[in-house]
Amino acid sequence: MALIQCPECRKTLSDQAEKCPDCGYPIKPLSKPKNEEPIIVNNNAKEGCFLQTLNVGCVIVVIVVIVIALALFVGC
Ligand SMILES: [Zn+2]
Repeated sequence: MALIQCPECRKTLSDQAEKCPDCGYPIKPLSKPKNEEPIIVNNNAKEGCFLQTLNVGCVIVVIVVIVIALALFVGC
């Protein structure tokens, strides 16, 4: 059992109270156990996407390097 502050009249009251005994402000059941939904983060998809992006980037870099090398080679 904890004490909370009424957001309306700023008086301290029990979190078990359904409403503020002073001003009647309805208190939300903060003490109610939260049903924490598991946040499923699909890391595999992100990693796959990242890897794909990385692979595409690598391919582009390799192609650019080859083109530059060929240009230098032809230039000589
Ligand atoms: Zn109050």
